[in-house]
Amino acid sequence: MTKPLVLIVEDDKPVRNLIALTLESQGYRHESAETGKAAILTSVSQQPDLMILDLGLPDMDGVDVIVKTRTWSQMPIIIVSSRSDDSDKIAALDAGADDYLTKPFSIDELLARLRVALRRLQYLRGSAAEQELVFTNGPLKIDYAGGCVFVDGREIHLSPIEYKLLCLLSRNVGKVLTHNYFIKEVWQNALPYDSPSLRVYMATLRKKLEVPLGQKLIQTHVNVGYRMLRLSDGGTAQD
Ligand code: CA
Repeated sequence: MTKPLVLIVEDDKPVRNLIALTLESQGYRHESAETGKAAILTSVSQQPDLMILDLGLPDMDGVDVIVKTRTWSQMPIIIVSSRSDDSDKIAALDAGADDYLTKPFSIDELLARLRVALRRLQYLRGSAAEQELVFTNGPLKIDYAGGCVFVDGREIHLSPIEYKLLCLLSRNVGKVLTHNYFIKEVWQNALPYDSPSLRVYMATLRKKLEVPLGQKLIQTHVNVGYRMLRLSDGGTAQD
């Protein structure tokens, strides 16, 4: 298998070099870009497998790089930025980023996120996720055609909203989805004022699945959103 090609978009040279050296030590190939414009051109010409993106670039905002890239590519995009406000993270995720890390970051954490993103890429490429009829993640199985959910072969009964939330999470396994995203997809942007909050629905869904699974499936990103973790067949969350 060819080594994955990672595009590093970062105008800060020491950070760029650090990421590049780390990627090399782990056997990844890499390309670099210092500006948003260069990032887009390199994406088109080199077709990287993944992008590591700084948000504060000299010529344009990183969020605009995401928006432009998403018009033609589904490659995972990991944000590495010094912007730590939830609103910045949400804007980047809503624009189509997969994940974010706040500077200063640990190299081990970056590598862990990279592995998650590359598995998501394999998933997207391997199974044409959108058309898939059955989703499996460790002992969890979702039969999209029948609308049924199983853990270790035992059916789990979910409410229609819990099921919708689970489908969104599973179709984007490994990616952080924002609160806005769920509210747009499930309630067409308007969560009825008398219905429980998204947090309550998620809590119930987690309980129904994580108790039989005996492990964490849905990761909470406080004030930002949720992500479904990839479970191994033996039943432990990876990264
Ligand atoms: Ca910068």
